[in-house]
Amino acid sequence: MTTRPVQPEPAEFPAGSVWLVGAGPGDPDLLTRKADRLIRAASVVFHDALVGPGVLALVPPTARLVPVGKRSGRHSREQSSIDRLIVEAALAGERVVRLKGGDPSVFGRATEELDACRAARVPVSICPGITAASAAAAGLGRSLTLRGLARKLTFVTAHTRGDEPLQLDWRALADPDATLAIYMGKAAADALSRELIAAGLPAATPLALVQSASLPEECRLFTRLDLLPLAAAALPGDGPVLILVGEAMGAAAGPLPQDTIRAFAEAAR
Ligand code: SAH
Repeated sequence: MTTRPVQPEPAEFPAGSVWLVGAGPGDPDLLTRKADRLIRAASVVFHDALVGPGVLALVPPTARLVPVGKRSGRHSREQSSIDRLIVEAALAGERVVRLKGGDPSVFGRATEELDACRAARVPVSICPGITAASAAAAGLGRSLTLRGLARKLTFVTAHTRGDEPLQLDWRALADPDATLAIYMGKAAADALSRELIAAGLPAATPLALVQSASLPEECRLFTRLDLLPLAAAALPGDGPVLILVGEAMGAAAGPLPQDTIRAFAEAAR
């Protein structure tokens, strides 16, 4: 991607307005051209912890870069204080980019920020991004849907507040005809495996984990549902993890990618 400065399109991004911009899964080449243009035109960028360094490098030196990161289980800025920061910056006449990992509309608390802007009569728009499930499937060399076997794609978050137990509609999720894309699921690996099996999904249901999809440190594991806790514990590092469950991750979807087969062979030696 080039680094030439881009003149802001006044009609697209007037001073005093906000864009919620999808930063994609991490690789800056997976940004949309529009996201790239908006980032370069911003006077201030509020970004999540999950936004990759390659994407942040596109923020012009003239813009203020403000981390407002929230990572599950760690110190986090209150959502209401993020809403306030964005609105105040826009009311002060800035061109505000709120840069969010993946797609802003997928488990991104976008509604709170949209509501806060609209309540303050601040113009606000969304620029979509590539969500983690799409990037994870691409890394695996697999399709998320599979003709005849995975006719349905379910996005679900396994995030809970504090110590609250994970309460999901397990019966609905344990659908053998669906691919389940589980966001924020690593910490809940035990419960996910146990409850999905208890609700009727076979223990041998194929499953894949992708850590840091699209980044140089991307790590992929193919396993089965009953082995999810072991596989989650075996992942190195603490990058974000997407879990994909269903036949689309299994042998029925065709042979595994060559590099995965090589990695298995090396691990078995
Ligand atoms: N709006 C984001 C999701 C935010 S929730 C999106 O559309 O992707 C945060 C969760 O997204 C992480 O816990 C992880 O499950 C997933 N995630 C985000 N980036 C990821 C990546 N590069 N690789 C794997 N999972 C990722």
